[in-house]
Amino acid sequence: MSLSAQQVIQLIEELAPKKLAADWDNVGLQVGAYDQRVSKVLVTLDVNRAVMDEAIAKEVDLIISHHPVIFKSLSEVRFDTEIGRIIRSAIKNEINIYVAHTNYDIAKGGLNDLLADKLDLLDVQILQPTFEDEVKKLVTFVPEESIDEVREAITSAGAGWIGNYSDCTFQMKGVGAFKPLADSTPYLGEEGQLESVKEVRLETIVPASKLKRVINKLNKVHPYEEVAYDIYPVEINGESFGLGRIGKLKASLSFVELIAQVKKQLGVADLRVVEPKVDTIKKIALCSGSGADLIKKAAFKGADLLLTGDLKYHDAELAVELGLGIIDAGHYGTEIIMQKGIVEYLKTKIQERGLEEIEVSSAKSNKGFIQIV
Ligand SMILES: [Zn+2]
Repeated sequence: MSLSAQQVIQLIEELAPKKLAADWDNVGLQVGAYDQRVSKVLVTLDVNRAVMDEAIAKEVDLIISHHPVIFKSLSEVRFDTEIGRIIRSAIKNEINIYVAHTNYDIAKGGLNDLLADKLDLLDVQILQPTFEDEVKKLVTFVPEESIDEVREAITSAGAGWIGNYSDCTFQMKGVGAFKPLADSTPYLGEEGQLESVKEVRLETIVPASKLKRVINKLNKVHPYEEVAYDIYPVEINGESFGLGRIGKLKASLSFVELIAQVKKQLGVADLRVVEPKVDTIKKIALCSGSGADLIKKAAFKGADLLLTGDLKYHDAELAVELGLGIIDAGHYGTEIIMQKGIVEYLKTKIQERGLEEIEVSSAKSNKGFIQIV
């Protein structure tokens, strides 16, 4: 049982499209080839020596990592450096390495949403918007008898979503005309004769990020040899994406209670904290990894506390000035949950799509680099 690397990567990119990644980031397939067969996937926060050894021992074909292996561009691959040895091991053992980093932080259902789920936050919003999807209008012309099949195909590929409504389409009956020319293989009609057919004009909206998938699906199910469709720009706001999240706890907690909850939910034994100004905490901002840049934003949006990692001394000073509490659960502590998140996502999607079953596991050897003693 196996899938191509491309098939697995496509599932990841449906969740975390590469275009959501920050400009400075490096995401995507970093070692390997899209057409390689994959029967075992290992999901990891980092690719270090221990994780590579685990991948080799488990005979993994594809590593999906959060942190990039190749971050800045390489001008050489030398085996007297750790990165060179890791790349050599990957190539020698035919292990592909794929990275979903800031695009996965930002994605709906990505790392920051996982973190918000851990705290059971309600009314979760984006803390720092970074990207807004465009919206396109798609119009196609379909013979009456195929309308249901075409509508179902394009809406299931992502067309027709408005707020909390799916399958939003409009259709109008009319008459289409065409003349099949030499070498055509028309669905109906004869070569050289003008044909008219009862058609339905089907229109809907599509996020630009899903347009390619919708058009592919349309071409696949539409009965005509040459599918007629138009794509129009639309002046309405698309879906927003961004870094960090802000939301409300179901019930207010004291700082001590919140600390206990964070330790339990993230499985972190030690936290570094800055006490908030308020006695009870209701509104929480969070950002996985290094989110101290969002201290001002969190305070401005009325958060009582920011949960993040990698807090520096002067970040803490700023938080005190703004009255914002901080829980620093560590870079590793706020991000290691991605392993389970992606494993579960892939297993669910593979089953839902009826794809061949492959083994997807979470790296066990990735322990983080910092210990508190
Ligand atoms: Zn990170």
